Amino acid sequence: MNCAIVTDGYYPVRMGNGMASSTMTFATAGGRPAPGIRLRGLGKEFPGHIAVDGVDVEVGAGELTVLLGPSGCGKSTLLRMIAGFESPSRGEIVLGDHSLGDLPPAKRDIAMVFQNYALFPHLTVAENITFGLSVRRTGRAETAERLAAVARLMGLETLLERKPAQLSGGQQQRVALARAVISERPVCLMDEPLSNLDAKLRAEMRVEIRNLQKRLGLTMVYVTHDQVEAMTMADRIVLMNAGRVEQEGRPEEIYAHPASTFAARFIGSPPMNLIPAAALGIAAPECTVAGLRPEDMTLAGAGVAARLVGSEYLGADLFVTLDIGGTEAVLRQPARAGLPAGEAFHITWAPDALRLFDPGTGRALPPRQ
Ligand code: ATP
Repeated sequence: MNCAIVTDGYYPVRMGNGMASSTMTFATAGGRPAPGIRLRGLGKEFPGHIAVDGVDVEVGAGELTVLLGPSGCGKSTLLRMIAGFESPSRGEIVLGDHSLGDLPPAKRDIAMVFQNYALFPHLTVAENITFGLSVRRTGRAETAERLAAVARLMGLETLLERKPAQLSGGQQQRVALARAVISERPVCLMDEPLSNLDAKLRAEMRVEIRNLQKRLGLTMVYVTHDQVEAMTMADRIVLMNAGRVEQEGRPEEIYAHPASTFAARFIGSPPMNLIPAAALGIAAPECTVAGLRPEDMTLAGAGVAARLVGSEYLGADLFVTLDIGGTEAVLRQPARAGLPAGEAFHITWAPDALRLFDPGTGRALPPRQ
């Protein structure tokens, strides 16, 4: 029998580690408590295409919620509906106690940071940061005071007279963030804000953004397709797939208990191994899929037979690719443990680390007693 494994074939990218950032303190956004956001049955249909398909999500007040998913799954459309740039085809967005209805973006009390920064090239850094305040006719003294505080917070004091073209990518990103912070809006939406930066700067900036969000007590909704960004930054992850919520929860909940083979493969690097249960000698209904994280498998003197396919040295870790009954799986072990000689191995695993999935739907099966 052909027991195909449902995964959507998605393999996430590996990334580096973050760095600590400054410990400067700052008043919360305008001194107001940040509200939560509720999305109720939210949907968006473009001609001939459903981009968002009935999403129910609670964004906690003062929390960082990441909308995560592959390209085209509808996460930006969802964010743009919260911002008011896109009107929902159905459903409701509730900010605090108020339904946003068709309130225009400027009246939503929400700041947004875009992927391309959207800085004005002909304005200085200071003018870019204070642009929104001048539109709202904020007084000179207050503008100067808020600019000084935000520039200090974001480490931009020495760059205020420069034009965007005279800044590095990371500095431009910081100016875009500063513009959101100075608005003192308690809700901040971010659409892939780090995707134009190199891997090292991304790692630094995600720590900075997370620290800033916590320090200011902002309610933040952050869109990314990068599972490392989601895992390292989020209080809660909303994993999306084809316009719907695949799974939602704390990063460690989703990592330990993926609700589906899609979630199992999308979160984790390398992703969870999906192996026919029969190949592991597990008694289960025909074609049941077994899921094991690479770090939960061990090379052992006895157990299930496995053949070496290859190995990848990463300094601290060694990723060992094995063929287990015709399915490739990756085992992670400390590099210093080395590999035994030969190509024929056996593997074992921690029984409580084993997950089982329905072969037809790809959904997780209840844990076995
Ligand atoms: P990415 O990570 O690539 O930005 P995404 O998850 O943010 O992807 P969306 O930009 O929300 O995805 O798009 C969801 C789907 O809706 C896609 O199939 C896209 O082609 C479609 N779509 C988005 N905007 C429009 C539009 N204005 N008209 C028609 N279809 C659209």
